[in-house]
Amino acid sequence: MYKDIATPTRTKEILDKYGFSFKKSLGQNFLIDPNILHRIVDFAEISERSGVIEIGPGIGALTEHLARRAKKVVAFEIDQRLLPILEDTLSPYSNVSVIHQDILKADVGKVISEEFTDVEEVMIVANLPYYVTTPIIMKLLTDRLPIRGMVVMLQKEVADRMAAKPGTKDYGSLTIAVQYYTNAETVMNVPRTVFIPKPNVDSAIIRLTKLDQPAVPVKDESFFFTVVRASFGQRRKTILNNLISQLPNGKERKGQIEKALQQANIDPQRRGETLTIAEFASLSDCLYDIFQ
Ligand code: SAM
Repeated sequence: MYKDIATPTRTKEILDKYGFSFKKSLGQNFLIDPNILHRIVDFAEISERSGVIEIGPGIGALTEHLARRAKKVVAFEIDQRLLPILEDTLSPYSNVSVIHQDILKADVGKVISEEFTDVEEVMIVANLPYYVTTPIIMKLLTDRLPIRGMVVMLQKEVADRMAAKPGTKDYGSLTIAVQYYTNAETVMNVPRTVFIPKPNVDSAIIRLTKLDQPAVPVKDESFFFTVVRASFGQRRKTILNNLISQLPNGKERKGQIEKALQQANIDPQRRGETLTIAEFASLSDCLYDIFQ
């Protein structure tokens, strides 16, 4: 077994050897605590039957832990300067490939079908770059990838929103978007001290387990998300007032919106944050017919 990359001494040695300087704009905060890495791999339940997609391997701290447990790891890294470093640090592991690409532009489905022909399941595991956490997660969910789920480190505040329950301050359109596709659980809070450089926010590890079917059936998915976003338009407003002001031609359709709320059995004076995902589905189905 090789010495972990993720110790403060070894990380510093690697950074010095290559004269690497962190780019804040790429969300580069590297993990320097092997215990956290063990926990991430445990939460993801990675085994020799798993293929893993990693986003942003950095200098390979998490990648090597994944490589030790998984059948195969494919890592997407945007920063070209890290490629020679990764070639060096990951040389002991023959089951890792690194793709130099922005994950937001990648055809991850194609990579999975080409690279993971001999695995039983695929997981996405990452210590995400915080400047693009939400776009990355939403892209991976809406791409409808054949994955078991994701275990990712991200800002605690974003994890709290993704795993929120109705009626709480964190519950919003991001919650619904994530919980439409997955079962979301914050599995661990992580202090700032385990990264270099230290980020200026707290972190958490979230586990998103993909549901076999979306959480609720809806007539039209894109309209469902339009209704959800409209309902959270202004948090102080009632759901009725938000729908009137946010939906197209809402003002002229006030009567119809009231009727849809009644059909869906939702009090027009409630606020968006109190509605369950099932209530949003029934409301959006009732509104759908009116807005077509
Ligand atoms: N996995 C390493 C660790 O835990 O120490 C590094 C994590 S660091 C928080 C995020 C990594 O994502 C950096 O290596 C950064 O260069 C990379 N990155 C940033 N934006 C990216 C993008 N759009 N696509 C792929 N990688 C990206």
